Amino acid sequence: MGVRMVKMREYYTPAVVLGSTPKRDKDAQIVLYTKDLGKVSAIAKSIRKITSKLAGHLKVGALVNVRLIDAGGSYQLIDGLAFKDPYGGGESLKLAAFLESVIPQGQPDIQMWYTVSEIFEGGIITPRIYRYLLQLMGFVKGGEEIPICQGCKGENGRVVYFYAPDIIFLCSNCLSRVRIDINETVPVS
Ligand SMILES: [Zn+2]
Repeated sequence: MGVRMVKMREYYTPAVVLGSTPKRDKDAQIVLYTKDLGKVSAIAKSIRKITSKLAGHLKVGALVNVRLIDAGGSYQLIDGLAFKDPYGGGESLKLAAFLESVIPQGQPDIQMWYTVSEIFEGGIITPRIYRYLLQLMGFVKGGEEIPICQGCKGENGRVVYFYAPDIIFLCSNCLSRVRIDINETVPVS
């Protein structure tokens, strides 16, 4: 009998870093939105060692060329080279967290990729940007220019927010009534 080969596929793709969670043994779980594979989660080995050069390239919100190995369902991040550092301030972190929660796993989408990468490249994140992304993902119906609050049906005429866990649009009044933390929402108007 010959040696059983484990087929490992290697990918080299640009990506946006959406999230990073520490794991055991100085590893980290990195969530990436990639051009070629869509949203993937990959283990970066030893990235939290003090000598790791990789960590500086994988800041949340950065645009990175990554090398990934698919070892049968789970990805390992072998290398990464940032070509755009994240913009300072909380806005790019907020957008990254939002995308991590709403983009489905896998499912590459070239239009979505160009949109997302351009937003992180430009660093201008406005309610209009969130509205456009939600439209692209089908959360906002085509004809609806600005979503109205589903709580008061727009009676309060206030800024409307999108709350991803419940897929709901609410104004600040209605948000406080249902006790949703405004920091966990994104503004769409
Ligand atoms: Zn309302």
